[in-house]
Amino acid sequence: MTEYVFTPAPIPSLAVEGEQPRFPIRRVYCVGRNYAEHAREMGHNPDREPPFFFSKPADAVVPASGDVPYPSLTKELHYEVELVVAIGKGGKDIAPEDALEHVWGYTVGVDLTRRDLQTQAKKAGRPWDLAKGFDASAPTYPLLPVSRVGHPAEGAIWLKVNGEEQQHGDLNQQIWPVPEVISYLSQAVELKPGDLIYTGTPAGVGEIKPGDVVTGGIHNLGTFSFTMV
Ligand code: MN
Repeated sequence: MTEYVFTPAPIPSLAVEGEQPRFPIRRVYCVGRNYAEHAREMGHNPDREPPFFFSKPADAVVPASGDVPYPSLTKELHYEVELVVAIGKGGKDIAPEDALEHVWGYTVGVDLTRRDLQTQAKKAGRPWDLAKGFDASAPTYPLLPVSRVGHPAEGAIWLKVNGEEQQHGDLNQQIWPVPEVISYLSQAVELKPGDLIYTGTPAGVGEIKPGDVVTGGIHNLGTFSFTMV
C-alpha cells in the first residue's frame, strides 16, 4: 500500500445507468469543432482539417441533474451538448477500423464554456484551460454500455433552455465520426480505460444564466435536465 501525506481525493467517476458499479474516469478529452454548422457560427471554415483536442480535469464531470453551479469569472457561460465516448480498452495508433473495439459505452454531456474567457484567450494566443476546464464544467448523463446501445452513428442530438430548443443536430453530421476521433486522439496520446471523449457540439450554442433549466439528449441514449444555480 502506498502511503500518502494526506488522504487522496476520491477517484472521479460517472454513474452507469441502472447499474451499481460506476465508471472510473481517468482523463477527459474534448474535440474542438466537429459539426460544420457550429464551426461556421464560430467564424471558421469547416473543411476537413484534422480534429484538434483540449482537456478538462476528470473531476469536472458532474451529474447532469439537480443543480449545477454557475462558475466564477464569466459573464458569458455557454452550453455545448455533445456525444460522449467512454473508452474501455486502451491503445495507441488505433486504426479507424479497429477503434470501436475500444469503446465501453456512450452518453450525452454538456461542455460548459466560459465563452468570454475563451474569446480573450484566442485573441491573446493563450491556452483555453480556464475557459473550458473549470469546476463542474462537464455535466454528464449516466453512461450506457455498448451491450445496450451499440455504437450510435446517427440520431438527434438536442438541447433546450427553459423549454426552448436551442441546439438540434444529428450525430451523422459529425465531420469526424467516432472511429476517426479515437484514431486521431490515439496518435497524440495513449488512450487508457477510463478516458472520456466529448466529441463536439452541433450549431446553436448560446448563453445560460443562473436559474435557467437546461435539458437535452441524444436519441436512444437518454435525456438530462439540470438547473444552473
Ligand atoms: Mn465542445
